[in-house]
Amino acid sequence: MSFFKNLFVEKCPTCQVPLISQSTAFPSQIVKSCPNGHYEKEKHPAFDIWVETEKKE
Ligand SMILES: [Zn+2]
Repeated sequence: MSFFKNLFVEKCPTCQVPLISQSTAFPSQIVKSCPNGHYEKEKHPAFDIWVETEKKE
């Protein structure tokens, strides 16, 4: 079942650490980011899309 688990555990593409959820000013907005600052993923509920940001050093 590890294949299915991997579908739901989102990881940083750079360091493979699970992303952590962050609280925002808007309850319907979801932001998940790498604790090491490589990657950020933000849900825009109005458009139902995810915006992904990879932070290059
Ligand atoms: Zn990372």
